Amino acid sequence: MPGFQSAKVSRAPKSRAWDGSRSGSGAAPLDLAGRLEALVAANAPPKAVYGPSRREAPARLPSARGHAKRCPVCGQRFGHFLRFGLNRRRNARCPGCGSLERHRFLWLYLEGALRLPQRRLALLHIAPEAGIRARLAGLPRLRYRAIDLYRPEAAAMDATRLGFPDASFDMILCSHVLEHIAADRQALAEMARVLRPGGHAVILVPLDPRRTATYEDPAAETAGERLAAFGHPYHVRICGADYGARIAEAGFAVTRVDSAALSGHRRRYWRLNKASLFDCRRL
Ligand SMILES: [Zn+2]
Repeated sequence: MPGFQSAKVSRAPKSRAWDGSRSGSGAAPLDLAGRLEALVAANAPPKAVYGPSRREAPARLPSARGHAKRCPVCGQRFGHFLRFGLNRRRNARCPGCGSLERHRFLWLYLEGALRLPQRRLALLHIAPEAGIRARLAGLPRLRYRAIDLYRPEAAAMDATRLGFPDASFDMILCSHVLEHIAADRQALAEMARVLRPGGHAVILVPLDPRRTATYEDPAAETAGERLAAFGHPYHVRICGADYGARIAEAGFAVTRVDSAALSGHRRRYWRLNKASLFDCRRL
């Protein structure tokens, strides 16, 4: 076969550094993969990682000009959102307020389904997201309290020991917190205690609905062991399809709401991904 034997095999190009390392002088900022590697190697405590909220990126970055997407949290329009995450997923982070997909989903539910801006109520925000906190702070009829173990912009308080009297709140927001707490049943019991009967807790956890049973392993103690077991250095479980039942045990009527219930057009416009929240009415 003419040409076959003489065909040259082209050399694969040298792979570029992918792990945040680089040669030459000058300190390069670590990328997320590099940071993850470093904190796992040092078994850094969460306090070393979850510091004050970083300043949000300036609005209207040149690369995000346009109007195809709208952030429901800050109300600004952009051509696209920014990349975010270990895999640098596209169209994730709002250039205006820093919201991620799940924050936009949560806000749409609070605004559309629960009509939060129109209501007069006392709300407890556990580990507040900067963009949503800013929106809530602007609602004149809301009596707003925020707590966080690590961020100085909220009162320092442990979610498993809430320093509030019984039935103090009409609503609690708790997004992506419980997967960090070993005693999550205790945190749920505290939420039920400080909510008035009929009040709502809106709870989000990273959910893997293909798992029928929530996976926990107390033997995973270091950041590296938790990363291997749960896919995150500070998570203590992978929540499965049964997690709503665990919430219900604390005294809630639980409804799971999926972002997939929104039309494809809306999900693209607001740039949402697959996410679920639990709307939990205190019995
Ligand atoms: Zn925004």
